[in-house]
Amino acid sequence: MYESERQQIIDVGIALDRYRLISLSGGNVSMRIGGHILVTPSGMSYETLVPSDVVVMDPKGKVIEGERRPSVDTVALLHIYSNMPDVNAVIHTHQPYATAVGLILDELPAFCTTLVNATLGAVTVAPYSSAASLDMGVRTVQYIGDKRAVILRNHGVVTLGPTLKDALYAAVYLEDASRSWCAARAMGTPRILTPEQVAEAVESFRHYGQGRK
Ligand SMILES: [Zn+2]
Repeated sequence: MYESERQQIIDVGIALDRYRLISLSGGNVSMRIGGHILVTPSGMSYETLVPSDVVVMDPKGKVIEGERRPSVDTVALLHIYSNMPDVNAVIHTHQPYATAVGLILDELPAFCTTLVNATLGAVTVAPYSSAASLDMGVRTVQYIGDKRAVILRNHGVVTLGPTLKDALYAAVYLEDASRSWCAARAMGTPRILTPEQVAEAVESFRHYGQGRK
């Protein structure tokens, strides 16, 4: 069941690796579909995965299909899905530049158009939560607001959205923006966007690309 969705999850995991957002088997990719949650398995490199390695579970975490042990962060992921009904995809990474920003700032400001397009605005830094903890999910729900990304201090990043593509874009552009921020801060004080410019950037991206199916 969900063969093509399981393959999409693997493809996104491989993309995370390609964009240097995870190393080895770090992080996880999950999706909600048809009342089920699909989650990457624990401790396996994405390029080695086949669709049957992706675990299908019910919203309470009971495994419906799959032999693998699901991600150790599953308890946090289930909390996010059950508290955010509009979210159908969640990505967790340990992407280095956004994690670095989270060590210093309480919020990455909305300062460039690609960041705002993908995350829908400034990205909050949530207090520390460890791997495999319910806290990771609780902090995400508490701090993400109406955005598509949150930085978990001393840990990594959670991105989410209505689709896997939305969550992937948020992770990739958050990392790009974090690199730019670090470069700019090394030279001086970065200028940020005005609230009007942020609203305009969010709106303009709704019409980007070939349209939603
Ligand atoms: Zn983690």
